[in-house]
This record gives sequence, C-alpha cells and structure tokens, in this order.
Amino acid sequence: MRIIAVLALAANLQLAALGGSLGLVVLGSGGPRPFGRAGSSYLVEINGTPRILVDAGPGTFLRIGELQLDLDQVDTVLLTHLHIDHTGDLPGFFKARALTARAPAIHFAVFGPSGAGVFPSTTRFLNLLFEKGGAWEYQKTFGADEEIRGVDLGVELNSSMNQIVDVNGLRITAIATHHGDCPSVAYRVDYYKESIAFSGDMDASAVPNLVRLAKGCSLLVFHCAVLDPPNSPSQLYSLHTPPRRIGEAARDAGAKRLLLSHIAPDVEEASRTVLQSIRASYQGPVRFAHDKMRVPANP
Ligand SMILES: [Zn+2]
Repeated sequence: MRIIAVLALAANLQLAALGGSLGLVVLGSGGPRPFGRAGSSYLVEINGTPRILVDAGPGTFLRIGELQLDLDQVDTVLLTHLHIDHTGDLPGFFKARALTARAPAIHFAVFGPSGAGVFPSTTRFLNLLFEKGGAWEYQKTFGADEEIRGVDLGVELNSSMNQIVDVNGLRITAIATHHGDCPSVAYRVDYYKESIAFSGDMDASAVPNLVRLAKGCSLLVFHCAVLDPPNSPSQLYSLHTPPRRIGEAARDAGAKRLLLSHIAPDVEEASRTVLQSIRASYQGPVRFAHDKMRVPANP
C-alpha cells in the first residue's frame, strides 16, 4: 500500500514538473438524429477535474449523471454554434451544476458565436433563456446564485484567431468556422504541453482556419457527419466536412491524434470506408467517439 502511495506521489510530482494533464470526456458523440447517441457535448478535465463544457446537446444531463461527474469546478462553457443538437441541454447542465454546487454562487463564462440571420448572438440566446423575462429566469436563483456572462465571438472566416482565456496555465483559443447559415466557431484548449482542439460542425471551406487553430495539437476532435461525395445528400456538404478532407486537415495541422465524433448513422455503418478515406492522408491514431468515452489528450 505504502509503495503504491509513494509511486502515486512520485507520479504526481512528475506530472507537476511537466505542468499537468488534459483529458476529454465524451458526453455526447451524436448529432441531430436520435439513434442512441446523445447530441454533441464534451467535458475537458484538467488534472482529472472537469473544468470546461464544450457544447451541451440533448442527453448531456443524462450522461453527466450516468458518469457521476463532479461539476463543481465547471464554470466555462464553449458553444461551437447554437443548433439544438449542440445546445438543447444547456438549461439541464446549469440545473445539474447548481444543484450540486458546494459554493453559494457560480460565475459562468459562456463563449459562443455572434448572431446572424435567424440565429441570435450567444448573449441574446442566454438572455432569452435565463435573464429577466426569459423562459427559465428562475434558474439563476435555483440551488445557487448564478451569474451567466455571455461572450460573442467573431464569425467571419477572415476574423482573427482569438485567445479568450489565459489563466494559471490554461489557455483557450477560438477561431471562426463555417456551417451553412449558422454562425460557428472552433476552440482549442491548451494546458501547459497538452492541447485539445474541437472543430464543432463545419464545412470544408473552414478547413484552413481549423488547421491554423489545431497546429500541433495533442488531440483533434473532428465532427464526422457525412460520407465522401457523392454518397451523402449534396446540401450536407455546405454544413459538414467529408472524411477525405478531415484526413487532410488532421495531416496539415500535424494533430497527434484524431477523434471522430458527431457520428451520423450512415457514417457509423460505413466506418471502415470512412477510416480508409482518412488514412489516405493522415497516419496518426484515429478513433470513433462513443458516449461516456474518456480520452487523455496525451496517452
Ligand atoms: Zn450538429
């Protein structure tokens, strides 16, 4: 027992010397279709503690409970875009967080895209849900006092890459992507020497931005919702990046590992072909995500 404790202590000291670790918990590996996967959602853990929520698709609340995750240190939310399969469980997440809070007050920072067309900005979206006159105004004082601060990010493909968090070794960077008519952004989380980049949903026109963001990252989470042309409905290519381009993007970014998520039923069925397509360019380890999967940034 003592030997184990000493070894664990030595491992911790070694970890501290290196700076710490980043881990990914996949809460939802699916997209808009209901076929057993939760909608898109991830938690990023720092040194084993959940700290950052990335998207909150339907099913997030359920998966958090199934995994018995401690949300007490989660105060940063990164929304890639405001489609329902990425945000439908945001109220459920806030409720879960508030009802298990150990401190009397929670200060959330919620980052997401600016608005355009029929899509509200992230700040307006939050106002419509949780502020005065909003649908769930009661939530902000239910279980804990919550302050929910929204931050709207640039969504033009030529807008600059933005560092949005820089605190105690944790850095978060955002860049605009493109997802049809829905404003969208991609994120990268860095903690000392480890990093995880999230494509969100994006079509291939945003690949150059994603490659810039994901340069040399430890783990690239890329949403894989279509097959190579012409095997998916043509209108989907203005929303999603096909596998061949995903492989090229991972290669060009020099991502050390690739995790495919936001899996559609036809992609799941054709997983061997999808993998072959990616392998045509990218030689690093590739995995398909599933709900409740844990992936260290640097295994
Ligand atoms: Zn989606």
